Amino acid sequence: MLRIGCHLSCSKGFLAMGKEAVKIGANTFQFFTRNPRGGNAKPLDLADIADYLEFAAENGIARILAHAPYTLNAAAKDENLREFAFATMQDDLKRLEHIPDAMYNFHPGSHVSQGAETGIGLISDQLNRLFEEEFKTTVLLETMAGKGSEVGRSFEELRSIIDKVEKNDKLGVCLDTCHVFDGGYDIVNDLDGVLKEFDRIIGLERLKAVHLNDSLNTLGCHKDRHAKIGEGGIGLTAIEAVINDARLKDLPFYLETPNELPGYQKEIELLKSLYRD
Ligand code: FE
Ligand code: FE
Ligand code: ZN
Repeated sequence: MLRIGCHLSCSKGFLAMGKEAVKIGANTFQFFTRNPRGGNAKPLDLADIADYLEFAAENGIARILAHAPYTLNAAAKDENLREFAFATMQDDLKRLEHIPDAMYNFHPGSHVSQGAETGIGLISDQLNRLFEEEFKTTVLLETMAGKGSEVGRSFEELRSIIDKVEKNDKLGVCLDTCHVFDGGYDIVNDLDGVLKEFDRIIGLERLKAVHLNDSLNTLGCHKDRHAKIGEGGIGLTAIEAVINDARLKDLPFYLETPNELPGYQKEIELLKSLYRD
């Protein structure tokens, strides 16, 4: 069965997201843990979470993906910004303890002018500190397009972060199809080669989720602009190959395409029709 969902607004709570997901034919979803620009999260509504968990069990929703605010920068030069990223992620992980099957995805960070080596060091320091406490949630590093000074633009950079994290058993990777394509990995003409390279450098056992997006731009452009499924440089044929690849087909797929709910519903229908059980 295709595990597919899209990014939903978290403003109305978990039960509302669960209902929205079911309405558009999804069986999972992604949400921001708080305003994507950062700031305080609303107090946890434990009754809403209990209602959601019951609804999710009844409706086959599983493996939802929390996304950290994209403005956090664990690799910032300014110590206050790094501390803010740490405190936010720690708070997010504490909150996610209430949602047993959730995973937590974050953008590794941007080294600004410090160089990738330094950035990788700062990000892994932060993860080591975070994992001093035991959390149930699997934490995912997202593959990045390499816009500006983004860290995580190559499989090697992600591997270096993982290697520097001591308790890395709950550390995985979320592969964003738009980002890797923009980063120069040719998933259109050589998906097999890209996945072999992923396996050789990171290990496919670390791959826990896929962000399924088309790209407005071309291979290797380092831009990061998402397109609707089949309407960008990746195209529908390559996306069909991604969801059906034996190494990927059992992972959860999350759409982050420029859509409102009806558009997501159409894409989910389309992808289900292309999926081979
Ligand atoms: Fe992201
Ligand atoms: Fe993404
Ligand atoms: Zn993106």
